[in-house]
Amino acid sequence: MKDITIVGAGLIGSLLAIYLAKRGYTVEVFERNCDLREVTPKRGRSINITLCDRGLKALDGAGVGQIVRNISVPVYGRLIHQENQQLEYQPYGNNQEALCSVSRNELNRVLLDYAQNNFPINFHFNEECIGLDLSSTTITFKNSITGNILHRQANRIIGADGAYSAVRQRLQQRSRFDYSQHYAAHANKELLIPASAQGAWTLKKNVLHIWPRGQHMLISFPNVDGSITCTLHLPFEGESSFDSIKNKQDLQHLFVTMFPDAMQEMPELVQDYFTNPVIPMVTVCCSHWTFKDKIALIGDAAHAMWPSYGQGANSGFEDCAIFDQCVGEYRDNWIETFRAYEQQRRPNADAMGMLSEQHFVEIRDLVGNYEFQLRKKLERKINRLYPTRYIPLYSLIAFTQIPYVEALEIEKQQKQIVDELLKIKELEQRIDNPEIEDIIHKLMHSRNVELQKVSTNLLEFAR
Ligand SMILES: Cc1cc2nc3c(=O)[nH]c(=O)nc-3n(C[C@H](O)[C@H](O)[C@H](O)COP(=O)(O)OP(=O)(O)OC[C@H]3O[C@@H](n4cnc5c(N)ncnc54)[C@H](O)[C@@H]3O)c2cc1C
Repeated sequence: MKDITIVGAGLIGSLLAIYLAKRGYTVEVFERNCDLREVTPKRGRSINITLCDRGLKALDGAGVGQIVRNISVPVYGRLIHQENQQLEYQPYGNNQEALCSVSRNELNRVLLDYAQNNFPINFHFNEECIGLDLSSTTITFKNSITGNILHRQANRIIGADGAYSAVRQRLQQRSRFDYSQHYAAHANKELLIPASAQGAWTLKKNVLHIWPRGQHMLISFPNVDGSITCTLHLPFEGESSFDSIKNKQDLQHLFVTMFPDAMQEMPELVQDYFTNPVIPMVTVCCSHWTFKDKIALIGDAAHAMWPSYGQGANSGFEDCAIFDQCVGEYRDNWIETFRAYEQQRRPNADAMGMLSEQHFVEIRDLVGNYEFQLRKKLERKINRLYPTRYIPLYSLIAFTQIPYVEALEIEKQQKQIVDELLKIKELEQRIDNPEIEDIIHKLMHSRNVELQKVSTNLLEFAR
């Protein structure tokens, strides 16, 4: 009864395998693709991701956090490239808080290496899950090289097979399985700013560069080798969309009009654009994530979300850490383990999925917007005055482990303070005057009690 079958050796399947092997389980992982360590990664198919405290803490818990930090570049804020070519720096926090920018492929490689070098985990590559019999928990794989079919009776199955999970699709066929998916009208495509001849970054290094242009947006993430991976966000259809850009001239027109400074650093823009795939963004919500004491979903298989908040992998890693805690607490009582895991994670994942959709609009339309910037400035100011009592939502999500649902509750209270302050006339000119600080103290005093009511975790954090 100590064996566990994981479907999918992506980021989340690999980390979960490590956690479970550490607990002494026999872990078999089946992955549809070949071993990504044995092939040269295709350009344009490995996006970059940013890891925050949640993800890093979960990686630390498995013993692999420092190795991941070594292949990451810290980013301390956003550098906004305005349409008028001006730059506006927005730090993530007042205390040098940083996200870690890392290539998803490199991260996956490191996790696979760490898993195989330290634990007796069996990875089976080129094995696609094509069927699952729920009554006997027999899972069927097809080998993509030999065509061989394998039927495997498994004691316990964890579906870590991503947003289009085959394991989840089988659960969806049961009655009373709730499922929803929501695609964005926008998609993204990876582009590259190569390192200079000296191997250096050609744009400022320790920041995320963002070019917000309403329906269009470019974001860039630094890599350790001096290159910078960019993600281009465009609508699928309509003017200046993935659909309407048919040739080199269309593409150059878009970049000259919207992202001229970035374009200067992209010698292979045209080739990259017409080679790399368009990646859609989908939110997946489903229930239940678990079936009896036999099957559970984790990571994107349970809760895919738009990448705008940078929480997909982070929340999936956090799933692994919480799953591990539940395994530790309930030992081999899998009914209780699954129940506790789903109870803790599902409401939080649903909340984060919703927030990611909202945030997409925020970064696309608002990051370059005057009121948005003033709001951020105020949030930083209040946080400087009350570092442990007022934590902006982005920081609650990225730099604490306070559950997402609770972070949203805290934000509801905090937002009222900023809303009040924004009513003050000529606020921007007066923001550093003592009178504004007095108003902040008064507002915080009256809100503090309510803030503390909504979050015991905030109190813990404050200590
Ligand atoms: C453009 C973009 C930017 C992003 N940025 C961030 C970010 O900044 N921060 C962040 O935290 N997250 C980010 N994400 C999200 C993050 O990439 C995902 O949340 C994360 O990769 C999910 O990991 P996973 O292991 O659950 O799923 P996946 O990474 O999809 O892995 C699933 C694995 O299962 C395998 N598989 C699929 N089907 C089968 C099958 N039938 N049989 C066997 N194996 C199968 C797949 O081959 C794959 O290896 C971003 C995503 C995108 C698209």
